[in-house]
Amino acid sequence: MKKMLFNKRISGQVIQGFSTREGGVSPPPFSSLNLAFHVGDRPEFVRENRHRFFAALGLDLQQSTWANQVHGNQVAIVDRRTAGSGALDPADALFGIDAMVTNLPGISLGIMVADCLPILIYDPKHQAIGAVHAGWRGTLSKLAAKTITVMGEEFSTKPSDCQVTIGPGIGACCFQVKSDVIAAFQDQLPQVLQDCLVYRDGTSFLDLYQANSLILQGIGVIGKNILGDSTSCTMCEQNLFFSYRGAGGVTGRQAGVIGIME
Ligand SMILES: [Zn+2]
Repeated sequence: MKKMLFNKRISGQVIQGFSTREGGVSPPPFSSLNLAFHVGDRPEFVRENRHRFFAALGLDLQQSTWANQVHGNQVAIVDRRTAGSGALDPADALFGIDAMVTNLPGISLGIMVADCLPILIYDPKHQAIGAVHAGWRGTLSKLAAKTITVMGEEFSTKPSDCQVTIGPGIGACCFQVKSDVIAAFQDQLPQVLQDCLVYRDGTSFLDLYQANSLILQGIGVIGKNILGDSTSCTMCEQNLFFSYRGAGGVTGRQAGVIGIME
């Protein structure tokens, strides 16, 4: 049995999990469980892969909601009208969105990644959820924290109640950054930079997992409520995960998905 699903968890009415690249139908360079329409894979393969992953997860693909992610900082509030956007047809994915929230039963949220971090948020007090796409730009704009703020405005979510799961992304072992990224963090998040920049062999590496964890704790998320697998690195483990950098740009996408059961 191929390991299609990574860290599946059920808490109350909420199901969440991360996909790997195994167990799908796409040929190289998208082999095999590519979940993204926009990378050049055939749409019928992507639909089949999404069907398989959602069956393994136990959520309804038709009610899963996807965005046309742009490394921005916009959060969408998903309602009945937008539920299911982008699930089977990329043309109706939410445009220019990198994070989504909802509190409606039956709806799930999907974030596509290959090195960037998928961050899933669950507020058990208000049965509200969020999903975030955080590469270095999303980290710099504190998008995960902003998403919890939006959940606070919409659903009365408090950071201290949130359970956060950071999915597999590029690790500090591999995420080499140059002076532009370092300067941007120095300007806007100097303390995070100080705690998360690793200097090794004459090169700088950024720990995105730790950066997001610190940013979330900075708004009141409790450290022990931030879960994840900080040891997985998409670039080190390309047999299990897609890595944009590792593949030189052309590859598939895995996903982090969180949904509320009917
Ligand atoms: Zn690595």
